[in-house]
Amino acid sequence: MDGNFGLVHKTSSGVGHGQLASRHKNLFFEDQENVKEFLSHYGIDKKSNTSECSNFQAGNVIRSKIKTKKLDITGVFGSVCKHDIPVMMLDMTHGERLGYPAYILKKVLQNHTSNLVVMYDIACTLHRHLKKTMDSDVLRQCTFSVPVFHSFAHNVTCQLEYGQRFTSATGLTDGEGIERLWSYLRGFNKITKEMSINNRQDLLTDALLHHTFKAIHNLGMQKSKCN
Ligand SMILES: [Zn+2]
Ligand SMILES: [Zn+2]
Repeated sequence: MDGNFGLVHKTSSGVGHGQLASRHKNLFFEDQENVKEFLSHYGIDKKSNTSECSNFQAGNVIRSKIKTKKLDITGVFGSVCKHDIPVMMLDMTHGERLGYPAYILKKVLQNHTSNLVVMYDIACTLHRHLKKTMDSDVLRQCTFSVPVFHSFAHNVTCQLEYGQRFTSATGLTDGEGIERLWSYLRGFNKITKEMSINNRQDLLTDALLHHTFKAIHNLGMQKSKCN
C-alpha cells in the first residue's frame, strides 16, 4: 500500500455526468462517497506518532502535501498484491491519512481473513494505530511489514520488528510493487488532472488493467524460465 501525490485532479476540470459516467465504475476505484463516509467517522488522532522510529511527520494526518485548494483530488492511495496486481484504489481528498490504509485493510479483510501480510512504508505506525482502533482478533490475522528499501528510513529496533527481511513467510518479496505501479502511472499525471473525474477514472482503470495483464504475463514468463 502507498499514497501517490502525483495523480491529482483539478477542481476546474469537472466531474462529468450522464452518458459520460465512468464505464469501469468501481473495478479498482472505491466509491468516493463510501471512502468519505469512512474517513468522516474515522477521526484524527494527533497523538499517534511516526517520529519514534522514522523521520516521517507525526500524527494520524501524515505527509500532508496539499499545495492548493484548486485540487479536488489530492492523489491516489492504492494497493497491489505480491504479484504487482492492483487490488484497490482510493482517491484522496486530504494528505495521507491512516484512515486510507485502514479502509483498504477493512475491505480486504472482508474476503481474505487469514495470514495477510500488510506491506506499507509506515506499517509500524499503522500497526500501532490499529492496535488502538481495531478488534485484536482481526488484527492477529495480519502481519505488518515495512518494504525492503523503505525500511532503511526506520531505526534499527523498528527494522528488526517490521523490516521485510525479518518478516517470516515473506521470502524475498520486496514489498515495493506499489512503487513499480506508481512509476508506470506517472506518465498519466499530466493528462488525468485535466480530465473530468469520470474520464480520469476510466483512463486510470485502463492503465491498471494493462498493468495487471502485464504482471500476469510476466508471471508466466518467470515460470517458463524456471522450467
Ligand atoms: Zn518504523
Ligand atoms: Zn497476487
